[in-house]
Amino acid sequence: MLNKAPVGNNGLMKSNFKIFNVMGIDIELHISFILFVLLFLILDVSFLVILLVLFASITLHELSHSIIGKLNGINVKKIVLLPIGGMAAMDEVQIKPYSEFKMAIAGPLFNFLLCTLIALATQLFGLPFLLGWADWNAAVGGAITVPLATTLWSSTFWLNWLLGTFNLFVPAIPLDGGRVFRSALAMVTDYVNATRIATTVSTVITFFLFIYALFTYNILLLVISIFVYLGAVSELEYALSNKLLAHFPLKRIVRANYLVLKPATKLDKAIEEMIKSRSLVVFTTIGKHMELVSLYDIRHVPKSKWKNTSLKEIANRVRAAEVTDSVTAVMHSMMRNGLEAMPVISEEELAGVVFRDDINRVFEILKVSNP
Ligand SMILES: [Zn+2]
Repeated sequence: MLNKAPVGNNGLMKSNFKIFNVMGIDIELHISFILFVLLFLILDVSFLVILLVLFASITLHELSHSIIGKLNGINVKKIVLLPIGGMAAMDEVQIKPYSEFKMAIAGPLFNFLLCTLIALATQLFGLPFLLGWADWNAAVGGAITVPLATTLWSSTFWLNWLLGTFNLFVPAIPLDGGRVFRSALAMVTDYVNATRIATTVSTVITFFLFIYALFTYNILLLVISIFVYLGAVSELEYALSNKLLAHFPLKRIVRANYLVLKPATKLDKAIEEMIKSRSLVVFTTIGKHMELVSLYDIRHVPKSKWKNTSLKEIANRVRAAEVTDSVTAVMHSMMRNGLEAMPVISEEELAGVVFRDDINRVFEILKVSNP
């Protein structure tokens, strides 16, 4: 799976853990993956082998997206691994349809390539241990006993086959198949239009998947259908916001009045000021830099310590936006870094502050005035 919107750390909760870095791409594990491992440990240890194969396959699938992305000039920052798939978070606000097409198809193609190699190796070298679908299911379910190597080899084949098939042949955005579908449409129609069609198709597919999952008591499929539906909706919002905000001048939403307090201000006093000005963030100037303290930062300090903790101890230096930056780029940067506000500079002078909330409001207004 691919995701253009930033994943995870939204400023409210840290839910991803970095495990390693490949070619400048952070590989992060979502907390649900760890819960999933624990669940399987309780159920059956032999499932852990399969889980590890799944984990490696998802990682390589996502890396294939990312590498093809990088070759097409798309900077992938990180990959977040979830038990039901992975997500590659990228910098780009909008990707050219053909680049998206290549990037989306790369993941499932890797899975199918691996399946082909396993099948070939089995054929050529006479390795007898590639189980058929029914036997593999029986082996995984504990109905038949096979050597561990057989389970490993067959699991690698069938899990990759499942990953490739589900991702490529279900044309529901944000699954890879849906992205391939959308990017193909975007080559003949406007990007937002293409996304609107892809989202509608996705809604229909996920509706039937949901009903099917409900009647077959398939909890995993139930979760996936909800997840994909929500992904499709946010994909349309995202495409729409890119279009509507692309040419909206940042300086029109820069605010000159915002809460600035001295770095030595204690947190209890800062909270009072925040209530007074109904501001969710406080700015403070440390040296030559503008730093930011959000509610999230304050919440991480026990209330009993507010009297003795000053803003400068918990302030974060934030990169300032240029007044010439596009609103979409600023919005993206805020989402990725979990920021509620960002200072804006013009010709090296502070021009004011832009708030995420203001961008959202402008977007809501533009949506109504540009149906
Ligand atoms: Zn994918």
